[in-house]
Amino acid sequence: MNKRNTGHGGMRCDCAGYHFPHRIGSKFCWYRADGYQRLPGDVDFNDRHMTDDEIAAAAASMRKQQ
Ligand SMILES: [Zn+2]
Repeated sequence: MNKRNTGHGGMRCDCAGYHFPHRIGSKFCWYRADGYQRLPGDVDFNDRHMTDDEIAAAAASMRKQQ
């Protein structure tokens, strides 16, 4: 038996990284394929709507809240 985790059987995600449903772990997805959240400040975080400075600011403000 060979269960594939791709295509329509993949885990769907609706996070803010994309404006449409996508597969979790996609390049701009806020979650990694293993389900952990990928947040501003993480080295593999990407957001095509934010500049590097904005991402750094978001990371700083998130740290302040905790
Ligand atoms: Zn996502």
